[in-house]
Amino acid sequence: MRKTIIAGNWKMNHLGSDAKATITGLVSRIPQNVKSEVVIAPVFPYLPMAVEFTKGTPVHVAAQNMHWEESGAYTGEVSPAMLVDIGVTHVIIGHSERRTYFNETDETVNKKADAALKHGLIPIICCGETLEQRERGIMQSWIEGQIEKALKGLTAAAMTKVVIAYEPIWAIGTGKTATSAQAQEVCAIIRKKILALYGSVAADSVSVLYGGSVKGKNVAELTGSPDIDGGLVGGASLKVDDFMAIIENAV
Ligand code: 13P
Repeated sequence: MRKTIIAGNWKMNHLGSDAKATITGLVSRIPQNVKSEVVIAPVFPYLPMAVEFTKGTPVHVAAQNMHWEESGAYTGEVSPAMLVDIGVTHVIIGHSERRTYFNETDETVNKKADAALKHGLIPIICCGETLEQRERGIMQSWIEGQIEKALKGLTAAAMTKVVIAYEPIWAIGTGKTATSAQAQEVCAIIRKKILALYGSVAADSVSVLYGGSVKGKNVAELTGSPDIDGGLVGGASLKVDDFMAIIENAV
């Protein structure tokens, strides 16, 4: 059975003192035997602190991005080996905000996913359609295309480590959650595409998360759907009470 994953994407939020308070608040309240896998993704400067304060707890630490190269003349970038070196275990790749504002493409997402897996980092690969694409009736082909391009060249064995996050762009930060039926439909499309590309072992083991206005109130219905294995949470991951409500109500 796939474990439920609740991942908090902090985006570009929290200065050091707030980050510290949020992390220490969280680890003081999460029971050691929490049933979901909990991940937090602070900004780069606070990753070492997050690793330190979550040591020996069930909370894992993710970066929000990385480069695919090992090292070299890439000003402003951070390599997978550097993340591993400081104790980071997961990395969010291809978030729609990075695709929209920072020229992330399916090709760079693919290179980053491959590099993450080669370094033993778990990639949380994001996909999702705009409202306009949904209304034009091209949601399915768009999502299938994103998945195929993001995973190109990966081995079936590597696929068992991959996490996919379906985040409809129209539901991010808008308070507009996809209904659990809408989210389930797309997460099933993603799993079927992985089945076609990599076979049943990969399809059964890949975790598919939903992201977009996940809250304590809607997480049970979302994660109760057969193909939704957890949530990628933005705004509601910034406050300990809100994130704890999601962790406690996830199924
Ligand atoms: P919100 O939960 O704030 O809608 O953000 C979702 C998201 O983009 C997580 O990566």
